[in-house]
Amino acid sequence: MSKQAISFYESVNLNFDKAAQLVDLPKGLLEQIKVCNAVYQMKFPVKVGNQIKVIEAYRVQHSHHRLPTKGGIRYSTHVNQDEVMALAALMTYKCAIVDVPFGGAKGGVKINPMKFNERQLESVTRRYTTELIRKNFIGPGIDVPAPDYGTGPREMAWILDTYLTFKNGELDFAGCVTGKPIGQNGIRGRVEATGRGVYYGLREVLNHESDMREIGLTRGMAGKTMVIQGLGNVGSNAGLISQNEGDAKIIAVSEYEGAVYSEKGINVEKLIKFRNQTGSVIGFPGTKTLPSREAALELECDILVPAALESVIHKENAHRIKAKIIGEAANGPITFEAEQILLDKGVLIIPDMYINAGGVTVSYFEWLKNLSHMRFGRIEKRFNENTYQSLVGVIEKLTGKTIGEKEKRLVTRGADEIDLVRSGLEETMVEAYNQIRLIGKRRKRIKDLRTAAFVSALDKVGSDYLNLGVFP
Ligand code: GLU
Repeated sequence: MSKQAISFYESVNLNFDKAAQLVDLPKGLLEQIKVCNAVYQMKFPVKVGNQIKVIEAYRVQHSHHRLPTKGGIRYSTHVNQDEVMALAALMTYKCAIVDVPFGGAKGGVKINPMKFNERQLESVTRRYTTELIRKNFIGPGIDVPAPDYGTGPREMAWILDTYLTFKNGELDFAGCVTGKPIGQNGIRGRVEATGRGVYYGLREVLNHESDMREIGLTRGMAGKTMVIQGLGNVGSNAGLISQNEGDAKIIAVSEYEGAVYSEKGINVEKLIKFRNQTGSVIGFPGTKTLPSREAALELECDILVPAALESVIHKENAHRIKAKIIGEAANGPITFEAEQILLDKGVLIIPDMYINAGGVTVSYFEWLKNLSHMRFGRIEKRFNENTYQSLVGVIEKLTGKTIGEKEKRLVTRGADEIDLVRSGLEETMVEAYNQIRLIGKRRKRIKDLRTAAFVSALDKVGSDYLNLGVFP
């Protein structure tokens, strides 16, 4: 990227400004929505081997219009204040778009987790949590972290345990963090949630025949070519589910070590296994190696799914992108400048703050589960099964025919937690897309889905502030 490139936070704010002109809210209110409400930068020591390392870390609460604030914690050497502020702001808009009643927040710890062993990572995580507790920056009604790039259920379990050590006896302690292991107050379906949400979102986008016709595509995901950049939790689940449930054809996958391509399609499940065994996607049977990992972004394809870090599509490579649809599984993969180039080319961009909102949606379900102290489905599952069984009995009696065992099992099944989580996620993604899409169609001055998504978020956050009575 060239030196003059604008920062991630500036990019988010430029997108905000573009949409702010189109909503009917007082200037001061828009300013209040835009700014980060609280920025906490910390430096703490952690023993690594024989050395003491000073770790730089952040927690940013972007908007207190609803509490708790919510957002993941990222472990990466790229972490800096600008990035965490941008990501926290995106969380506010994301939550509003999918009607998850939280303000936005984000955390970041500037480390390379690959260079730390498990014990050291545990020390970093526990110390970071302690700093948050000391400043009242964590709690089920205050601010609720979750996984992000470089963190997962293991880190969330350490956060929970540290929190509990300090807050013993707090009834709702388990809701202080989401994305926890299932055995430790987590919820089924959280790990796959962001990737699954990307699938439901893209499927809905592709189901609108007239929109697809405008970009030269037929309706439906089946057979569409897809390129995945990043095989982390989000990219691998988005790829797997789009392939298994949507019949998409994954023609290329790009990772840290390089990118592989196959015109016939790549079996994502086997590729993930291969990478786990060999440490690389390169050499996966039936694929060609592309000249660079960036080359995958520029392939001819129907759907490009950037699922790693921000700013990978910038003004230098945007001209070369040939995808018809870009689903922003990562946060901020397209810079503000690149977006204009892509829109001029007619690319349909499905914005991050909508398409990757599946993670926080299921985090919301987990938080509700924690506050209710009960697994979803526990109360009604067996009652429903009994009712359906009686119904099948009545039908058999009335018709004189017997329903086969397999069908009977299918229609008399009560919903488990995973079924309810997936159906709640599907409903959320479908509903939110249609809201954004309609805003885009009805308001003539809105030309792209990101602006439509921002307008949806600004309307909702703005009306929350007005209801709070903060603004006359
Ligand atoms: N880190 C995820 C995101 O960027 C999930 C946040 C959450 O679950 O709170 O949306």
